[in-house]
Amino acid sequence: YSKIHGTNQYHFFNASMSDHVNRRNLLENELRAALQNGTLSLYFQPQINIGSGEIVCFEALSRWFHPELGTITPDEFIPIAEDAGLIVQLGQQVLINACKQLKVWHNQGFDELRVAVNVSAKQFLLSDVAFDVTNVLQEYNLDAKHIELELTESLIVDDPDKIIGVLNQLKKLGVKLSIDDFGTGYSSLSYLSRFPLDVLKIDKSFINQLTTDKKGIAITQAIIAIAHSLKLEVIAEGVENEEQLEILQRLNCKYVQGYYFSKPISANDTIAFLKNHNIFD
Ligand code: C2E
Ligand code: MG
Ligand code: MG
Ligand code: MG
Repeated sequence: YSKIHGTNQYHFFNASMSDHVNRRNLLENELRAALQNGTLSLYFQPQINIGSGEIVCFEALSRWFHPELGTITPDEFIPIAEDAGLIVQLGQQVLINACKQLKVWHNQGFDELRVAVNVSAKQFLLSDVAFDVTNVLQEYNLDAKHIELELTESLIVDDPDKIIGVLNQLKKLGVKLSIDDFGTGYSSLSYLSRFPLDVLKIDKSFINQLTTDKKGIAITQAIIAIAHSLKLEVIAEGVENEEQLEILQRLNCKYVQGYYFSKPISANDTIAFLKNHNIFD
């Protein structure tokens, strides 16, 4: 009996494991090809100054529309890119395409706009991000102050000394540095003062709790207080409704991003969005 049971179990696990491995390998190969052919795209989500209603920045988010497999989410393909050694190439393409688009906005007269690019911890450890940024700024004749890099707390855990060096280089160039998904990582708060950051992005899980959990407001208020006492700008991500917006306004959060204003949209759609966006809406 135990042998049969064992055999069944073996087959069961084997089947589901091999499905998983097959998809993983398929996506890795397809991603390698997509990077070679330049078929990944970028979508953009606006970040808004609550006080003035102005769009101050667009966050660039990678999108993969595969002709046969359909849409594959970043939460699935970014970890694969990291494991398969493809994240440096992906990150370099994102940086170039984001800067190309920034130039388009500036040429259309939206010349104060910034673009924010997500940079994976692996990319920092495996490549010279400051070198890449310097080159792309030069190529598109852009000012570093219009580029923002979004980092996550995992970056800080990996190799703090190396990371501090690179962040200081980037800071010297004039690039804005933000800490993404703040509050979800494992690290201590001490890096907030040791790292040359400009912006703190409150993770959307806290924004979600603003109206659903009694302690939600208290936690968000505390995060905003820490940020302000360290002279960091604060942006709330994942704002989905007016109720959340009003609470954030009351808590003195200056910037917001979320579906309430816009989902991430294509490069083409950003132009119409910028033109139709009325601060008195
Ligand atoms: P992230 O950088 O924290 O980006 C915010 C994510 O929240 C995006 O998901 C965005 O579409 C989503 N979002 C924005 N507003 C709302 C909202 O109101 N409600 C909800 N429920 N979600 C909202 P997305 O585009 O699927 O990206 C997921 C993550 O994948 C990103 O999180 C980022 O960590 C990573 N990622 C995406 N593109 C890149 C990239 O080019 N490079 C790297 N290294 N990572 C990327
Ligand atoms: Mg981000
Ligand atoms: Mg985030
Ligand atoms: Mg995230």
